[in-house]
Amino acid sequence: MSTKQSLSLIRTALKVQETFVPRAAVPAIDAHNHLGRWLSSWVGRDGDWSIADVPALLALMEMVDVCAIVNLDGRWGAELEANLDRYDRAHPGRFATFCHAPWEELAARPAAAASDALVASLRASHAAGAKGLKVWKDLGLGVRDGDDRLVMPDDARLFDLFEAAGELGLPVLIHTADPVAFWWPVDEANERWDELGAHPEWAFGRPGLPSYDALIDALEALVAAHPRTTFIGAHMASAAEDLARVGRMLDDHPNLVVDVSARIAELGRQPRATRRLLERHPTRVLFGSDAFPPRREMYELHWRFAESDDEQFHYHWDPAEPWPSGRWRISGLDLAPELLEPFYAGNARRVLANAGI
Ligand SMILES: [Zn+2]
Repeated sequence: MSTKQSLSLIRTALKVQETFVPRAAVPAIDAHNHLGRWLSSWVGRDGDWSIADVPALLALMEMVDVCAIVNLDGRWGAELEANLDRYDRAHPGRFATFCHAPWEELAARPAAAASDALVASLRASHAAGAKGLKVWKDLGLGVRDGDDRLVMPDDARLFDLFEAAGELGLPVLIHTADPVAFWWPVDEANERWDELGAHPEWAFGRPGLPSYDALIDALEALVAAHPRTTFIGAHMASAAEDLARVGRMLDDHPNLVVDVSARIAELGRQPRATRRLLERHPTRVLFGSDAFPPRREMYELHWRFAESDDEQFHYHWDPAEPWPSGRWRISGLDLAPELLEPFYAGNARRVLANAGI
């Protein structure tokens, strides 16, 4: 057994309060999830839907009191239609599918024609019934133009696309960069060493890739350039380790909100700072899980995180994955009841006013 494995088995001697929260305090909207085929290979269902059984998902939603889920896997064209048929149209009010933009246009056409093609795709997706636009971290870290240059989120060729999103009333959920430690050397001193060992492709501190700060600055420049477009900064705008920065971004950009998806590990190790952020910005933080396929234990853990004052508990619901992020435990936010409704649902409902959820 390696040193790494034996460390992962360390038990805590603490005997602490364990609160079981089976249902959210108010019906919740999971504003960040993946119900389509786009990322299904991540859960071993390559080419198939990440959710095998939609009625079973609806039953789970009833059980844990999740009234609606945002599906970020719509893509465009026939794949968007298939997602809308399976979720939004089959179960009105329970799902909101976002579309994507076909970035390959940026390599296939000159700048003006690429911009036009991206806008035309968004308009067609909106007409089909997409409820928002999802932008993934490949923008800035992978998408390239015809000259093989990386395209950053605030690239001028994307201006018309993001302006059109605002005009059409489509919120933009954007995941830029990743945890800052993914740019650090991958060694024992990196707090996410286990995670980067499991996913070496997530280490971005390499020549030819932008720095973490360059990406977050580009995200902020994008949000500032389109004041009439609402942006949802996924994963606390990828700055969960620096909540002062998140707070300043929210102060400076009224058209920005953030979601907590895939970041309860980071937020729960600074529960007081996180609660202060929600108290200062009660209308700007959305609940989302980014955990798929959704499980009962996963939602229960999120309710415990938001509602209890439990201390030093595991941030992951799957005992087979003891430290998917880093080797720390989290504490609950103990949010006041008046903060729970906007966090769980009200803020998402406002941002998704055109989504019918
Ligand atoms: Zn996601």
